[in-house]
Amino acid sequence: MGLQLFNTLSRSIQAFTPLDPTGKKVGMYCCGPTVYDFAHIGNWRTFVFADLVRRYLEFQGYAVTHVMNITDVEDKIIKGVRETKTTLREFTGKYEAAFLEDLKTLNCVRPHQMPHATEHIAEIISLIEKLVARGMAYQAADGSVYFSIEKYRGCGCTYGRLLKLNFDELRVGERVASDEYDKESLADFALWKARVPEDGGVFWTSPWGEGRPGWHIECSAMSMKMLGESFDLHLGGEDLKFPHHEDEIAQSEGATGKPFVKYWLHGAFLIVEGKKMSKSLGNFFTLRDLLAKGFTGREIRYLLLSAHYRETFNFTLEGLQGARAALARIDECLGKLREVGRDALLRVQADQQVGPTRCLQQFSAALDDDLNISAAWGEVFKWVTETNRRLAADSLSANDAAAELTAWDKIDSVLGVGASAKIEAPAEIAALLEARQAARKAKDFKKSDAIRDELKEKGWAIEDTAKGPKLKKL
Ligand SMILES: [Zn+2]
Repeated sequence: MGLQLFNTLSRSIQAFTPLDPTGKKVGMYCCGPTVYDFAHIGNWRTFVFADLVRRYLEFQGYAVTHVMNITDVEDKIIKGVRETKTTLREFTGKYEAAFLEDLKTLNCVRPHQMPHATEHIAEIISLIEKLVARGMAYQAADGSVYFSIEKYRGCGCTYGRLLKLNFDELRVGERVASDEYDKESLADFALWKARVPEDGGVFWTSPWGEGRPGWHIECSAMSMKMLGESFDLHLGGEDLKFPHHEDEIAQSEGATGKPFVKYWLHGAFLIVEGKKMSKSLGNFFTLRDLLAKGFTGREIRYLLLSAHYRETFNFTLEGLQGARAALARIDECLGKLREVGRDALLRVQADQQVGPTRCLQQFSAALDDDLNISAAWGEVFKWVTETNRRLAADSLSANDAAAELTAWDKIDSVLGVGASAKIEAPAEIAALLEARQAARKAKDFKKSDAIRDELKEKGWAIEDTAKGPKLKKL
């Protein structure tokens, strides 16, 4: 059946077919962090979701280009710069470094490209120029450049594709200068914000005078630069549907006249202990807060990945305890499989090629169904139970164990909860292999042959492959 995804644009489940005519390449953009504070656990739900999408597409053999921007100039950042009396770079650099560290802690694969808004001012200006030239943007009396919703709609374009907007009921306001606003304040939004005293030293020169870009245009400019005017997937949290993503579509399609994104995927909200996260309720957690409570990135990742991305998720500390127990079950099972399959696994790794196991097939069928992660975990735990039963009954051969472990590695290439099944050769054997390589390099073939014999006596053979020598258990 292939991968099916819920597309916010069509509000329906659709088969995923990339724009690339060969069907291999996939361009994927996820709105990245605004680096004015430490990312909270709700933000992390979205980034871990994006990581799952990327990993699963790669598991399915697609060549993914994953882009995630860093918003390093925006209203809240300017406020922070002003309040901390630092420079823009000092202020955002600290939070960006923390973000990258947290990304690693949660074992998210680093996006291929992480463009910064401040490094794409020229692209942003040229995109605004295109919109001005097409009559869809104008400079207002305050010096700022705004996107005209009326002109855009007048060209037959629809504003409000991700979120149904009823223009008969909505009174479209004149214009809105701030980056964030709600549906009730629907109005022409700022593309370029004229410099005001509060901006301090944060400004660039443009055809419309000194100023800085609005938040929405940053994503349009950077995504189209990295992935082309039309690309496959755009992801983000559901809070970004309006106005951010709606504005991204309007700016991009308004400038190019081409469809911007084929599939829009939105991750649902995260609540904590049954309530909306807020600092005053004491249920506001950054990743660091949870690490300080003694939980690991792996446990937090597991919990964030436990529910379907389109369901509101209730994140609890009890849930983290449950994550710990669940991971321990997996680890215990893998540990036993390693004992049984150890020697066979080393042979398998040298030869590589294990057919798909039943668990692997069920796992992939679950994720093909709009990334039904709960069903996918269900298959993983069914497998754990069944494997434990077979281990207890002593009915698992070393080769079976090796095949199951190899399949687990494939499953974990998507889940990313670690616990790799790979087995390294003992240190003493690895050291001998290294010594043999050194001897070969020095053209001391007598010595290298002697080491080969020594390894053979210890039960190991060396296979020289194109990728270098590999150890194989005899
Ligand atoms: Zn964005």
